[in-house]
Amino acid sequence: AIHEFRTVDPATLEPGRSYPGHSAQQAAEAAARAAAAQRAWRRTGFDERARLMRAAGAVLRKRRDEYADLMTREMGKTVTDGRAEVEKCAGACEHFAAHAERYLARQPVDIEGTNAFVTFNPLGVVLAVMPWNFPFWQVFRFAAPALMAGNGGVLKHASNAPGCALAIESVFREAGFPEGLFATVLVRSEAIEALIGDPNIAAVTLTGSVAAGRSVAAIAGGRLKKCVLELGGSDAYLVLEDADAAAAAKVCAAARMVNAGQSCIAGKRFIVVKPLREAFEAALVEAMRGYVIGDPRDAATRLGPLQSVDARDQVHEQVQRSVAGGARLLLGGQVPDRPGAWYPATVLTDVRSGQPAHDEEVFGPVAAVIEAADEADAIRIANASEFGLGSGVLTRDLARGERIAAEELDAGMSFVNDNVRSDSRMPFGGVKHSGFGRECADFGIREFVNVKSVQVK
Ligand code: NDP
Repeated sequence: AIHEFRTVDPATLEPGRSYPGHSAQQAAEAAARAAAAQRAWRRTGFDERARLMRAAGAVLRKRRDEYADLMTREMGKTVTDGRAEVEKCAGACEHFAAHAERYLARQPVDIEGTNAFVTFNPLGVVLAVMPWNFPFWQVFRFAAPALMAGNGGVLKHASNAPGCALAIESVFREAGFPEGLFATVLVRSEAIEALIGDPNIAAVTLTGSVAAGRSVAAIAGGRLKKCVLELGGSDAYLVLEDADAAAAAKVCAAARMVNAGQSCIAGKRFIVVKPLREAFEAALVEAMRGYVIGDPRDAATRLGPLQSVDARDQVHEQVQRSVAGGARLLLGGQVPDRPGAWYPATVLTDVRSGQPAHDEEVFGPVAAVIEAADEADAIRIANASEFGLGSGVLTRDLARGERIAAEELDAGMSFVNDNVRSDSRMPFGGVKHSGFGRECADFGIREFVNVKSVQVK
């Protein structure tokens, strides 16, 4: 039977629109159409691709409020965050429209007696398995560079964001991209194996949980297809004794509260060295208190609902198990008595190894304070994680911060005195269980290309 994709508004638990799913055969046909379109698309020049990609950016800007509302209805994002997300997507379209040609320019190689160079040819159609947390950005971060490189795309989005999935397909259609080059298939994750095995799919990219990444990587490995994985994180921020406690707390709260805490690069563990602990804790509680639960449709709201009641219950359970293991609640930690997937801004301290807030990814508005004896101890704690996505250092000594960020932290991204954010100009990705491969910038656009060596004698 064909699955029906039902949406539920996480703020009210009222059912929203339902969307009929696609059959396995329809999904395979979409892949075949994308492959046929891609065979022509790969012969287009960068000027033509850039013109269409800029048009996609214009569609996003024109429909910004409509798309933000769709995200609010499907996964509870605040309207302010949703609008910013759509604009960020438009920015990525414009970035890769402007820079793809340079990122993929032939690189001459100095080998005597020959004309030798490296060229970057598209791979084909890439399957994108994407999550609900940034329903537009996660997709555009992949699609803008992939299409500019001459590839096609088939999107299998999260099951709770079918309207966003179809809207993204329509952005490319409305912009004038060749019919079928970028297609959304509404299928459940069981359909992914057949799609990866489909001869019309060349490679796969996934953003999501470690479990989903493991499954997709195993299937892709069996089919010998390239994959890029952007998985979870438990980003550590080191708060050193020479930091300004209030300024550090503001950065840490902003890092934690991105998208109500539901971000792979949200700051999750705040490792403070002992002398600053008290001052930092007080400042962090103050900063977190500023995130008051409210209607996601109100432009002033900074903390809307989580994506679902199940997800909220899981966060609350992680908090409760942490408290049972010796952590102390400084703020929040109570499920509000109202319908909806609500969870308040929460601060836990005395967080230690063995507690979920220390060992697991907590995908919600829960900040964990961990005490360290000194800088070396803080670095050790930060790196003693299965994850390695983002990380931060808070210090007044910029040289010290730069050294720790550049050389000590096992993470794909390390920011000093700021919260980690993705940016089309900088590679984005992680190490360890946070995945492999990179998105964004020159490194990102070169993931789904054939790096070809050519010699002409
Ligand atoms: P999932 O990883 O389950 O969902 C992400 C995408 O992967 C969805 O399209 C989903 O499809 C698909 N998927 C799920 N299971 C499999 C599988 N076994 N094989 C192939 N594809 C699969 O994320 P959840 O929404 O369940 O969130 C769970 C946790 O994942 C979070 O608590 C967080 O830790 C992490 N996460 C990390 C994200 C990030 O940005 N890196 C984003 C989202 C979650 P479907 O929706 O149909 O199940």
